Amino acid sequence: MRKADIIENLNRVRERIVTCCRSCGRAPEEVTLLAVSKTRPAEDLRAVWEAGQRDFGENYLQEALDKQADLADLPILWHFIGPLQSNKTRAVAEHFHWIHSVERLKIAQRLSAQRPAEMPPLNICLQVNVDGEESKSGAAPAEVGALAAAVAQLPNLRLRGLMAIPAPRENAAAQREPFAQMQSLLLQLQRQLPDQPLDTLSMGMSGDMEAAIECGATMVRIGTDIFGARG
Ligand SMILES: *Cc1c(COP(=O)(O)O)cnc(C)c1O
Repeated sequence: MRKADIIENLNRVRERIVTCCRSCGRAPEEVTLLAVSKTRPAEDLRAVWEAGQRDFGENYLQEALDKQADLADLPILWHFIGPLQSNKTRAVAEHFHWIHSVERLKIAQRLSAQRPAEMPPLNICLQVNVDGEESKSGAAPAEVGALAAAVAQLPNLRLRGLMAIPAPRENAAAQREPFAQMQSLLLQLQRQLPDQPLDTLSMGMSGDMEAAIECGATMVRIGTDIFGARG
C-alpha cells in the first residue's frame, strides 16, 4: 500500500477510537493503539512512526528482530504478541518491552531469568483462551488466578494484565460477551493481587475494536485497518 493510504488509515483508526470512547464515556487516552505490523516491511513501520505511532506488535520472532535492526534509530516500543516456544524466550527477554501471549508458568520463568539486569522489567499480559477453543492458545479462564499468582512472584517481570483473541462473531452484541468476561476476569485479578500493576486489557482487533473498547480494552491491536489486508 502507498504510504499516504497507510497514514490515512491510521488516522481513521485513531478517530474511531476517539469516537468510540466518547460514546461509551471513556477518555481516549485510556486506550493505546498497538500497530500490528506482522508481514509488513520496515518502511511501512517507519511511515506510521513518522505519523506519531509508538507501539508496534509483532508475531514472528525472527521477522521482528530483522525489523528492529532496520529501525534501530527509532525508540519504538516493541510488543511480542504471537505464540512463543520455550527455546525462543531469550530473544523476547532481550529485545522487547512487552509480551502479550504468556500462557504458562514455564515461559514466564524463563523470560524473568533471561531478562537482562540492566533493562527494566518486561511487561507481560497473560493470554486467556476466553472461548475455550481447542485450537487456540491461552490459559483457561479458571487457571488464570493461579498462573497470575505464580507470575507475580517473578522478579524481572511486571504483570500488567490479560490478553485475548476471541473467536469471530456476527455482531457487536455477541462480540461484547467474551470481552465483558475478560473485563470481569481482570477485576477479579486486581482484587486477588492488589500489589500488582494490573492496568491492561489487551483486546480488540480490526473487526471487533469498538466492542472491546466498550468493555474496557486499554490496548487495541490493529493490523488490517492500518496496513491493509495481509497477502
Ligand atoms: C494479526 C493479529 C492482530 C491484528 O489483527 P487485524 O485483524 O489485522 O487487525 C491482533 N492481535 C494478534 C494477536 C494478531 O496475531
